Parts: sequence; C-alpha cells; structure tokens
Amino acid sequence: MDYEAVIGLETHVQLKTKSKMWCGCANEFGAPPNTHVCPVCLGLPGVLPVANEEALRLTALTGLLLNCSLPPYAKFDRKNYFYPDMPKNYQVTQYDKPSAVTGYLEFEFNDSLARVRITRAHLEEDVGKNFHFDRNSGVDFNRAGVPLMEIVSEPDLTSAVMAYEYLNALKDILVYGGVSDCDMEKGMVRCDVNVSVRPKGQSELGAKIEIKNMNSFSGVRKALDYEIPRQIEVLKSGGKLIQSTRRWDDPAGITEEMRTKEFAHDYRYFPEPDLMPFQPTEAWLEEVSRRVIELPLARKRRFIRDYQLPAADAQTFVWDRPLGDYFESIAKQAKSPKAAANWVINNLRAKMTESGTTLADVKFQPPAILELIELVENGKISSRIAQDVFTEMFSAGESPAKIVEKKGLAQVSDTAAIEKFCDEAIAANPGPAADFRAGKTAALNFLKGQVMKLSKGKANPALAGEILERKLKAGMETGN
Ligand SMILES: [Zn+2]
Repeated sequence: MDYEAVIGLETHVQLKTKSKMWCGCANEFGAPPNTHVCPVCLGLPGVLPVANEEALRLTALTGLLLNCSLPPYAKFDRKNYFYPDMPKNYQVTQYDKPSAVTGYLEFEFNDSLARVRITRAHLEEDVGKNFHFDRNSGVDFNRAGVPLMEIVSEPDLTSAVMAYEYLNALKDILVYGGVSDCDMEKGMVRCDVNVSVRPKGQSELGAKIEIKNMNSFSGVRKALDYEIPRQIEVLKSGGKLIQSTRRWDDPAGITEEMRTKEFAHDYRYFPEPDLMPFQPTEAWLEEVSRRVIELPLARKRRFIRDYQLPAADAQTFVWDRPLGDYFESIAKQAKSPKAAANWVINNLRAKMTESGTTLADVKFQPPAILELIELVENGKISSRIAQDVFTEMFSAGESPAKIVEKKGLAQVSDTAAIEKFCDEAIAANPGPAADFRAGKTAALNFLKGQVMKLSKGKANPALAGEILERKLKAGMETGN
C-alpha cells in the first residue's frame, strides 16, 4: 500500500517593533540578561498591559499579505500554564477571535504554483529564555513579552521539501513587508510541525503527531525526512500511531516522543480581563492597507514578463530588493534590459561586494550603465574595454564617454592601423599562421587574440578577424 504525508505548520514570528507587546521595554536582541525588563513584562502583581499598536498593525498587514480576511472583532485571552520562563504563569494570546483568518500563500514548487491555505494569524507574546549552567539555571526575561505572531496553515503540505519551500516563501513575504527580520540565528522564527500519514486515497486523517520548537527551516525538513518514513514504517508493520508530541534531536537525527494525548495540557483559556477587545476602524484598516507591498513572487513574475529576464536574474532582484529597484530605474529606457541586468548583477554587485559598499555609495548615476552599453553596441569600445571603463566609473564616478575619451580607449576601426597589427601578429606567430593555412580554423582565434593584445584591446575584433583571414588566405595563394 502507498502512503502519503499530510503536514500543517504553526509558524511563530517575532514582530519588528521598537518595544514589547504590553510595555515600553525595548524589543532588542542580544542585550545583557534581564536589562530590558519592567514590572509589566516580569508579571509583577497589580500591573496593567497596554497593547502595542504597531504589533496589531503588523499582524493585520500580514493578514492582508496572506490574502486573509480581517475580522471586525478580535480579542485577547489568557492561556494558563506554569513554566519558569513565563513569569505571569499565563501567556496572553488570541484564542477564538484572532486578528486574521482564512487566507492562502502561493509559492513556486516543482515548476508550478503551490497554494497553501492559511487558517489564521494571531498575536501573542513571547516568553523568556532558560539557561542551564553547570550547577544551576537562570532565566533571561528580555524576550518575555516580545510581540509574537503565530501563522497557522491548513494541512495542505505533502512533503518535507514542500514544507521547506513554504517556510522560505513565508519568510520572504514577512521580510518584504517589514513585518519581521525573520533572523533564525536570533530565534525570530520558530515552528511547530503537525504531521500524519494515511493510505493514499483515504480522506480521513491519520493520528496527528506534533514536532515542537523547531528553530530552523532546514531542521523542519530534516525532521520530516525522518518522521514521515518512521510513521509509514509503523503502519506497514501493523502498528498503530497515537496522537502525540515529539521533539527533534538534531545531532542524533531522530524524533523522540515527549508526551501522548493523555497528558495534553488543558490551558483553561479565558478572555484577558485587562485588555479591551480589538475592533479596527475603517480608517485604521485603510492605513494598514497602504503598507501592502508587491509580493516577492509577483515581483519575480513581473520582472520576467516586463523585462524578459531569465528566472535566475529575476530571483536575484527579488532577494536583493534595492538592487532590483536600481535595475528597474534604468530598465524601462534600456534597449536590452537583459544587458542592463548583466551589468547590474555581474559588475555592479560584484564591485560593491568587493569594496564592501552599498548602492548609496555608488558614485555614478544609474543611466551611466545604459551609456556604457550603448558605447559597446555602437562599436565605440569593445566589451573587453567596457569592463575597464566600468571599473573606472565605479572608482571615479565619471561618465563612460568621458573615460573613453580621456584614456583614449575608443575602439580602433581604422583599417590601416589594424592591418599593421595583423601583419605583426602573423609575422610573430608563423606556427599558428601555418596551422590556419593547413585548415585548422581555430588558429584564427589565437591570432585574433594576438592582434587584440597588440592593440591593447582597442582593435575592432570583427574587423581584425576579417583582415587576418584575408591576409592568411592571400598568403596561401602567393605561397608566402
Ligand atoms: Zn517591560
């Protein structure tokens, strides 16, 4: 019997706000332990939370970016449980009335467009972090109360690699929208994975097994690559799977059972009495909707369509948005947008990387790239020389035409001058000349190279080729 996997993901994302969810403490990674804390985020008695409006906006914005609807009424609830990293002994979250519901996310997968439905996006708070030392443990509450958004997908994913691609697409959108930096090294994105298997064709879902607290996308992929075959093996050997929670042991490369359903928590959710329900006004929603940006996938498709770029170039301009914007500022006037893309990606980006600079530091104006392309196309300079001109443009900021003039780099199309270089090249290389005459046409390229060298790259290569060929053939007839 064939089996298939059914996967849903719960993705937790720290929001990009200046302050925490219920207090004015800084939302900042890497500060010394317990320096961004106050009575509110330490859960001291008698304090009152004040909701961070930017966090509410970012959650609504995420809803819009993920094609969700934004309900007119959302509220916060207390999720009660005890754990040392959570000083209040409850987490404020949105239980039955979340900020965003029923959307979808589309991404490229297996050469087509995959669509994963989004159940909901809700807002909650992060918890502190436990540290275990040799003889004791400590808790850092800097992270306690940081705005955390949870995005829940429907079980529409069917493989480890599909889950991986979904997570990357989600991350791209959130980074683009300015919702989160999604820096995994800093723990800004974490995931719970729900995975079950069932015989192919069966509509009923198998026992749901949850893998908790994944902190990298590659970890999710590896855990599923282990867990899916494990579950199939259990069923194939006549065993039974029960609903349970497991953890991924990365060094060992296995998942381990943590608890089964009998020990599931009862969180005793109830409405948070210290916070008003949230009912967004038209004006507020209008303001949020103005922050909706073009999604990465739409941008990629537009670059391919409008500028006839190959997918790889378009993708480069999606990942590096400022570079893409730079390209776009000249692409509309470019005769060949692909040529402009080549200069921007292969030369400009390389030079910036090499010199550790950014677009803001570039000394020449973007249209100078078009001017440079024009000089090559008109035969004014060779593409070899164009590379040198670009280097000069990058370091000095002068216009390409000026550089060509100042340095005397214009291509030599003067036949007499090229004839002289050709004679010299043939005289200095009797071997290759004889090879060509004997029918080895590749020898012509070598001789052409010599002419380019003699002319310091300035000879018109097409003309040099023609003249060389004529001279060598003439030599054959006269027996020279
Ligand atoms: Zn605080």
